[in-house]
Amino acid sequence: MKHPYYTMNQLMHEHYGKKIRKICIDGGFTCPNRDGTCGTGGCTFCGARGAGEQLDPTKTIREQAEAVLKNAPADSAWIVYFQNFTNTYAAPEILRERYDAALFDERVKVLDIGTRPDCITEEIADLLAKYAEKYEVWTELGLQTASDKTAKAINRGYDLNCFERAVQMLKTRGLPVIVHIIIGLPDETPDDLRHTVSVLNRCHIDGIKIHSLFIMKDTKLAEQYEAGAFTPISMQTYIDRTIDVLTHISPDTVIHRVTGNCLREQLLAPDWIPQRDLIITTIDRKMAANGWYQGCFYQPEMFPVEQGISTKGAET
Ligand code: SF4
Repeated sequence: MKHPYYTMNQLMHEHYGKKIRKICIDGGFTCPNRDGTCGTGGCTFCGARGAGEQLDPTKTIREQAEAVLKNAPADSAWIVYFQNFTNTYAAPEILRERYDAALFDERVKVLDIGTRPDCITEEIADLLAKYAEKYEVWTELGLQTASDKTAKAINRGYDLNCFERAVQMLKTRGLPVIVHIIIGLPDETPDDLRHTVSVLNRCHIDGIKIHSLFIMKDTKLAEQYEAGAFTPISMQTYIDRTIDVLTHISPDTVIHRVTGNCLREQLLAPDWIPQRDLIITTIDRKMAANGWYQGCFYQPEMFPVEQGISTKGAET
């Protein structure tokens, strides 16, 4: 069954005529929201490995890429994804050294960098633009929500204006921006989620990764959950809210994923998180049954300007 939304596979077929796969890399970075530069303890949902639990930090960057590429077909194409922690959190010369370490094979077509908006500067955007002369360069920003209130509650450590500035720096250089959001954050309402989608539409982001909130052991969120401070949403609510995002996001935005995942041994709750295939299939079936498709309720001016993206504080 064809997904009723614009998938990354579809995009890659348009660009390369084939499926393109991903090599996830631990680039050896840390995060300013953990080392005290902007905060300590990190975002409340973030595990000790900063979303890269499955990666092996004892291997060099080249070894990690080689481990995958050595058995890959000669005509295959790859994305190298610097995944965990903040992969622009270093001086440009260090970034160059680490990115170059993963870009030794002609089969690699896309350099994909996961980072925080407060770690995008003009200098770093220039560096990424330089790589874009040879590769597709994607920057993935972990926004999670456009609500500054929720951002404070999850200890994200930057505000919406910071996000807007980073998007502007990247987009003015023609660099695609992929944004991560989380559905089911404590106290987030359906209206908050609509507001997030509205901001992303106004920012003309290129791609979105939609994650379910999962509570990993040994996190601040786990403490709050175990203290009874909040109840995770049900799988059905997750599916309905994801469909709400898909039907309101711009039809041009590439949907990189519609659910999240983590290692089972580290998952505390909710217990439906590993049922990824069921979630994806149910989303597809429900959208098809109702005649819904990506962007079918898209309205560029869904919210008043003052609630959406502003240019306040943006660098010119
Ligand atoms: S910005 Fe990313 S790596 Fe840093 S604490 Fe938050 S989720 Fe973890």
